[in-house]
Amino acid sequence: MSKTVAIIGAGPAGLFAAELASRWGAKTTVYDHMPSPGRKFLMAGRGGLNLTHSEPLDRFIARYGDAAGWIGPMVRAFPPAALMAWCEGLGQPVFTGSSGRVFPVAMKASPLLRAWLSRLEPQGVEIRLRHRWTGWDAQNRQTFAAPGGPVAIQADATVLALGGGSWPRLGSDGGWRDILAARGVASRPFAPANCGFHAAFSEAFLERFAGAPLTGIALSAGGTSVRGEATVTRQGLEGGAVYALSAALRDAIARDGAAEVLIDLRPGLSVERVAERLTSVRGGESFANTMRKALALPPVAAHLLREAYADPRAGGPAALAQRVKGVPVRLTAAAGLERAISSAGGLTREQLDPGLSLRALPNIYATGEMLDWEAPTGGYLLQACFASAHHAARDAAKRLGLTPVPAI
Ligand SMILES: Cc1cc2nc3c(=O)[nH]c(=O)nc-3n(C[C@H](O)[C@H](O)[C@H](O)COP(=O)(O)OP(=O)(O)OC[C@H]3O[C@@H](n4cnc5c(N)ncnc54)[C@H](O)[C@@H]3O)c2cc1C
Repeated sequence: MSKTVAIIGAGPAGLFAAELASRWGAKTTVYDHMPSPGRKFLMAGRGGLNLTHSEPLDRFIARYGDAAGWIGPMVRAFPPAALMAWCEGLGQPVFTGSSGRVFPVAMKASPLLRAWLSRLEPQGVEIRLRHRWTGWDAQNRQTFAAPGGPVAIQADATVLALGGGSWPRLGSDGGWRDILAARGVASRPFAPANCGFHAAFSEAFLERFAGAPLTGIALSAGGTSVRGEATVTRQGLEGGAVYALSAALRDAIARDGAAEVLIDLRPGLSVERVAERLTSVRGGESFANTMRKALALPPVAAHLLREAYADPRAGGPAALAQRVKGVPVRLTAAAGLERAISSAGGLTREQLDPGLSLRALPNIYATGEMLDWEAPTGGYLLQACFASAHHAARDAAKRLGLTPVPAI
């Protein structure tokens, strides 16, 4: 009789585990409490689905920081090239951008998800939506709250792919932490990762500039500097450059109560060059006009300087140039999980066997963002979700006596 595999969570990690388990011969059913699968995956495609990154593998793996020793071998076994080949195999060609980031040509996740679901169905994967996993019953069956009433199932292996804690309204609300805690499986609380921050800006600045982009800037904190962009939000700052520093900033705020970032408004120009340009603008111009004419800076940048300094022009062009090259902004709190791209925290390595089954519950596997790792944006998040799903599916297949042929 064929083996049964239950996958709980229809995000990219769960769907990939389902694809592999069914290809390797298991009767596979996916459960999710939302009315449709892959909602966060679709959201990830809104601003361009950054599937993975093309940099050398050692550098790629170093992006997982403290978790590199754990996630690294999984990524080596299912590397970026395999993920790209998988995407292309679904009829979605990929391209590498100038930053090295890899995207499907379509940029969005919807055509990829559509193609993926139409592969899974004929392969026999059944997807049961509006099924909220609630734990186990007295007979040790997995239980779900479903539209027609409670459902209990038994499977030879179960893969949990319930996601992290960001954007809970898309489905991954972290409710699984309590269910597993009741079974003695502890996890680290979620914290926002790749997130925005509250900044000590005046109400007037926030009101006027919320939504305004700061493009072509460099942001530095704690000795690390990144080029990119940021956007003023209703509470402070968000955007690529902010996300890149967000893990260190979040930890610094937790430790010290606040953290400072320096914004270089013209990273392409030396401080001397900035001073020269400022000198070339004739006197009598307003401050905002001076910044625009000398440095092509928008009003938001001029007002950012005013937020930091009572009189940004005090001391003349040389002093102003120094300020342009490092506007201090005090960050007071990480923005909530509701809008973070990803989350830190989740199931720690100590709770899992090397094959990603729970030490306390050996036929239950965990994959994807519910595991305790974090990484910057750049395609590292999805790559780790696919690679960990591949790792868990292989281990489960071997344990069930199936033959896991290569994934791609
Ligand atoms: C705005 C945004 C942009 C992003 N952009 C990128 C990007 O460009 N590149 C990148 O690499 N990553 C990106 N990410 C991150 C990426 O989307 C996630 O890391 C990835 O979706 C995590 O996959 P997962 O399968 O582990 O979890 P999820 O995608 O969160 O899926 C978990 C599933 O579990 C279900 N579930 C949860 N609890 C239960 C329960 N009790 N019962 C039943 N079902 C349950 C949820 O409904 C959900 O469908 C982005 C994220 C966001 C929010």
